Amino acid sequence: VKVTVLAGGVGGAKFVKGLLLAVNDLPGSAEITVVANTGDDMWLTGLRICPDLDSIMYALAGVNDVERGWGRSDESSRVSEELSAFGVGWPWFTLQDRDLGTHIARTSLLREGFPLSEVTRRLASRWSLPVTLLPASDQEVETWVELPEVDGEPSLVHFEEWWVRLRARVEPLRFLQRGVESALPAPGVVDAIQEADLVLFAPSNPVVSIGTMTGFPGAHGRVGVSGIPGIAEALRNASGPVVGVSPIISGAVIRGMGDVCLRAVGRPVSAVGVGSAYGARRRDTAHGLLDGWLVDLADADAVPVLEGEGIATVAAPLWLSDDTLATGVARAALALAERLHP
Ligand code: GDP
Ligand code: CA
Repeated sequence: VKVTVLAGGVGGAKFVKGLLLAVNDLPGSAEITVVANTGDDMWLTGLRICPDLDSIMYALAGVNDVERGWGRSDESSRVSEELSAFGVGWPWFTLQDRDLGTHIARTSLLREGFPLSEVTRRLASRWSLPVTLLPASDQEVETWVELPEVDGEPSLVHFEEWWVRLRARVEPLRFLQRGVESALPAPGVVDAIQEADLVLFAPSNPVVSIGTMTGFPGAHGRVGVSGIPGIAEALRNASGPVVGVSPIISGAVIRGMGDVCLRAVGRPVSAVGVGSAYGARRRDTAHGLLDGWLVDLADADAVPVLEGEGIATVAAPLWLSDDTLATGVARAALALAERLHP
């Protein structure tokens, strides 16, 4: 069975860990491809940083810091102490030593001329990951955030600066995907989507993790997010069912500040809001992406609403707090996909 997952960082990684256990129930062997968001990527201290690719790589390699929730375990920060003594880098964005090793290795390979997809393959091969990990694009497409100008603060900041330094407290005017017009899906992405037996959307940030790949339409006069050209089309052409898992439970994002992202694009912070923004994948709708959508048990009232919009919707427990729960979520997604299989 070929399964392709679209994923952001931490939420994506937790879901994929559950999926790796859940596919053991399926007959035959499973081949999992994870297409990771690259919208959070940036250049910092001369290095290319890819937060979501690294979160997934570290989590699947079992070298992630479980307590902190990001980065590698067994870390130190001697290099960043030196960098900040020189006044280089962002003092509020910690790059720890082992993690810096990844960024140096990546940058070195990029400078040798390898595209990000090949660089990612080489980095991941160190740990023989149980999945194929693909960046959404080899081109640099970065999410920037346009803010109302306050006290001479710049009005355009990189997503990570808005998220980490400003803690997403300033409501954005809009998100900008710099470089998106000329970007292409990375080699293997379109085939992985179109030829998969099923495609899953991890419960990741729908705007700045999934939306930067698929596009995410704005509403109520707000500008949406532009996806990598070709990814939404591949999803529309996918031969297997496309099933998403809601990152919103009872109108909340669980962890983090993803609710601000939804409000910024004029969408309600709810399982219905996200599901209907992705939309039903039907011949008579030009833009929909989903055949199925999982909502939490607490959001069971979303089921008839989204069914009415043409999306097969099932309520199931969606907490990913540990591997057992995450496996249950992945099983529910596989069961829904099985039901939808032509
Ligand atoms: P990031 O790139 O590291 O920010 O992570 P992602 O984009 O992959 O995922 C972050 C989102 O995952 C959060 O905004 C939540 O909406 C969602 N999330 C986190 N924990 C859970 C959970 O236990 N269950 C569900 N359904 N969603 C979750
Ligand atoms: Ca991210």
